[in-house]
Amino acid sequence: MPESEDVPPTESPIRIELRRVPSLVIVNTGNGKGKSTAAFGIALRALGRGWRVRVIQFLKSGDWKTGEEDMLTRLGAEWWSAGDGFTWDSDDMESSRKLAVIAWQSAAETLRTGTHELLLLDEITYAMTWGWISTDEVIGAIKNRAQTVNVVLTGRDAPAALLDIADTVTTMADTKHAYNAGIAAKRGIDY
Ligand code: ATP
Ligand code: MG
Repeated sequence: MPESEDVPPTESPIRIELRRVPSLVIVNTGNGKGKSTAAFGIALRALGRGWRVRVIQFLKSGDWKTGEEDMLTRLGAEWWSAGDGFTWDSDDMESSRKLAVIAWQSAAETLRTGTHELLLLDEITYAMTWGWISTDEVIGAIKNRAQTVNVVLTGRDAPAALLDIADTVTTMADTKHAYNAGIAAKRGIDY
């Protein structure tokens, strides 16, 4: 972190007493763009290290084939788009809720058994906020997870209790977004 005076540091900022942990919990939240993109960046790194990566998308429908799904599955990620699209397009909110519950139960199993080194729960915060899945249960499962499972969770309005147990929380700030100027989502940039 730069000091207040704008001069190059002459002492190493690295602390020698840093400890290693078997796994981390990362939360990307906030209203700005980049929550999922940054999570996929971690997935890319993890795959590069030979990790087993599992992605569960809580809202995205399997019918939309995104660039990230195409590329990360090619690189070996296991991918499940467990949603059925935008809630405002859904004609059966109850089936959307059930899908989220099934996806969560499967995620909980991965946390418990440790079959993957990285579990990416994309847009899971919405399922929590809407009461589709229990925040307490998610937090309990993360706390009691197999030690080697790193967890990345994304979505707006992450519950405070989730931020509490996370090791790293990034809140994306919506400084500006093309959408608000009437520009449609762009292939290759947004999906
Ligand atoms: P991305 O997937 O691009 O990293 P995100 O995960 O931060 O975005 P989501 O809320 O999941 O954000 O957004 C899903 C879609 O909405 C993406 O196409 C994204 O580009 C777009 N989006 C993200 N932030 C905003 C915003 N502040 N205003 C309008 N659209 C947004
Ligand atoms: Mg997202």
